[in-house]
Amino acid sequence: MAGDRTAVMMYATPEIGMVVVQPTAFCNIACTYCYLPDRSNKHVIAQSTVTRLFEQIFASGWACGEITVIWHAGEPLVVPVSFYREAFATIERMRPASVHVKHSFQTNGTLIDRDWCELFKEWQVGVGVSLDGPRELHDLHRKSRSGKGTFDRTIAGIRCLRDNDVEFHVISVLSHTSLDQPEELLDFYLSEGIDQICFNVEESEGDHVSSLFHGPELRKRYAGFLRRFWHLARQSGRVRFVREIDLALPRMFRPEGVPARNIQVEPLAMLNVDSHGNVSSFSPELLGLKNPDYRDYLLGNINFQSLQEIRDTCLASPLYRDITAGVEACRRSCDYFSVCGGGAPVNKLFENGSFMGTQTSYCTLTQMVPTDVILEAYDRLARRETVGEQPTLSPSPVPSGESAAQSSRMP
Ligand code: SF4
Repeated sequence: MAGDRTAVMMYATPEIGMVVVQPTAFCNIACTYCYLPDRSNKHVIAQSTVTRLFEQIFASGWACGEITVIWHAGEPLVVPVSFYREAFATIERMRPASVHVKHSFQTNGTLIDRDWCELFKEWQVGVGVSLDGPRELHDLHRKSRSGKGTFDRTIAGIRCLRDNDVEFHVISVLSHTSLDQPEELLDFYLSEGIDQICFNVEESEGDHVSSLFHGPELRKRYAGFLRRFWHLARQSGRVRFVREIDLALPRMFRPEGVPARNIQVEPLAMLNVDSHGNVSSFSPELLGLKNPDYRDYLLGNINFQSLQEIRDTCLASPLYRDITAGVEACRRSCDYFSVCGGGAPVNKLFENGSFMGTQTSYCTLTQMVPTDVILEAYDRLARRETVGEQPTLSPSPVPSGESAAQSSRMP
């Protein structure tokens, strides 16, 4: 692995690379592990708030050369196609020539139809669909508001994407049951033409408490699953992207001196905006949570404050202070820091009760296990090389939805 010169602490100027916009908190279904506290609220973000947000971003000079805008948290497709046509056109009109904007949706897939596919194609939108595998796995947790399984509607949406040549990836939440079924999961993905896959492990967030996440055997079971799935996926030759591996590889094997960014700990690198214009940074799941000590994790409201004011509030906040302390603690104590960069603040909060701690089950699964699995594979290849075989391990080409897939840990 590269050395531990991961950049932390002093961020002279924000570099906004990802904007997570909540068009509405409302979701049309009710997954059992959903952590969103406000998912019955049908309020929709105003076009004027979207305009103001991007005016501020572009005027700040803090936008990276490419910004990914993720429309997420609730279900973004409950807002009409026409809303996004107007919002995308407004953003495009304001966009400086030096900044490329890539839109992306994370959706449960149940509302996808041809109109949506036209929008996706026209604007080259990245699409991530939450799909937990075949019907018996998916319907365990992904329920309608009346308690029925949603598999049929989600798979219809996926087939519509394929019929209309729209690229997509899926995010599958692994449960107790699916962790033992890498073969069955891969067969299912291949049978549905799914070739870009991301895994989340059912975790405790907000009101949802996972029995799986804290089990002592989890690290071993998940490593076994990932090792087997990756092996089978490569053997099939039909899977282009397994996020857990393909995003870890370039972080592990990068040029000396190049830091691995962790945008979840950089002020404003990830800008999260709810449907009322409230702004947070760091982990997007913090938006909507309550905590008087951290002013509900809010840094301001884009309708009433400038980004400069929001940044000043952020830098002076207990939130930033404590997240930074947690990153420093990681840097001092963890062998995986050079790959991870200090983890996901929201998971430290949920699992350890504080931003200032270090290891979590979440980082064990998302950072430590993939790193170990990849290093094991390299060891095996190195041994084969010594007996004259050619090594074959290399990162898959990163698909167009990579940035969104990277951030979309939300189930
Ligand atoms: S892997 Fe966990 S303990 Fe290590 S740096 Fe990341 S968050 Fe910290």
